[in-house]
Amino acid sequence: AAAARPARLAAPGATRDGHPVALLANIGDARGATAAAEAGAEGVGLFRSEFLFLDRTDAPGRAEQVEAYRAVFAAFPERKVVVRTLDAGADKPLPFLTADAEENPALGVRGLRTARRRPEVLDEQLAAIAEAAAAETAQVQVMAPMVATLEEAREVVARCRAVGLESAGIMIETPAAAIRADDLLAAVDFVSIGTNDLTQYTMAADRMIGELADLNDPWQPAVLQLIADVGAASQRTGTPVGVCGEAAADPLLAVVFVGLGVGSLSMTPRALSAVGEVLASVSRADCVRIAAAALAASTAADARAATASALGAIS
Ligand code: PEP
Ligand code: MG
Repeated sequence: AAAARPARLAAPGATRDGHPVALLANIGDARGATAAAEAGAEGVGLFRSEFLFLDRTDAPGRAEQVEAYRAVFAAFPERKVVVRTLDAGADKPLPFLTADAEENPALGVRGLRTARRRPEVLDEQLAAIAEAAAAETAQVQVMAPMVATLEEAREVVARCRAVGLESAGIMIETPAAAIRADDLLAAVDFVSIGTNDLTQYTMAADRMIGELADLNDPWQPAVLQLIADVGAASQRTGTPVGVCGEAAADPLLAVVFVGLGVGSLSMTPRALSAVGEVLASVSRADCVRIAAAALAASTAADARAATASALGAIS
């Protein structure tokens, strides 16, 4: 029998009444990009660039990086591709960047923080992305992981601008960034909420520990509240907000996120058609109402149940 293929997304993402919600893919390399395009993704909302840097003693050179990025961009001509800069840390060690063992790797020198030690590695990556973007037609955007302060957000934008990258953003995956969303969103071109880390840091529960799965749940009221705050900041500042954590692949949460002001959802390609179908069955006003019901709930279980029952009443 033929290998199971993800159902192809039929049309661009939108609610029943035509409010567009870009349905994008999370990918890690060119092969993933091609598969995502075949599955009908409208673009890439999270290109994890770590793969190029793993298992080596020094950073990849400029030419090697340009070639790898071009291969990804070529899979999405004229489409959006959001490249995340290197997200190394003690949990994803790179000998040339993250030498010391840390007691708390999730709280350590990871993501953008590695640029404190080796800023030239980030600048070289940004230059390679800019060169690859100039050679392809994809609409390339760049964002940095693990940002917690306004200064860091400004630094990302400045480093991107210095190499000619026009669209510079940050991931919102620390509670600090969500709490200060108005300031941070005003400083960047776009943001993308990383619900995996935002949940782990909000709930102070290591995402690698299965025993804590009930805490590591994006339906937790504290997490939904922070996402709502970022959505509200997006409406005030006009800065677009997307979600690129695993939560975007949950059709119920997708409806809630759209109701909170999220304009794009990036997920594993196999989830695209299910999320697209549910969104097409509700109006934007339904999403707003359902999000309000989810936010009003006092527990994760109640938030999920309120969303499921509100959705069941519509479809
Ligand atoms: C996240 O934290 O939600 C995210 C998308 O990034 P990663 O899973 O790569 O940490
Ligand atoms: Mg993350």
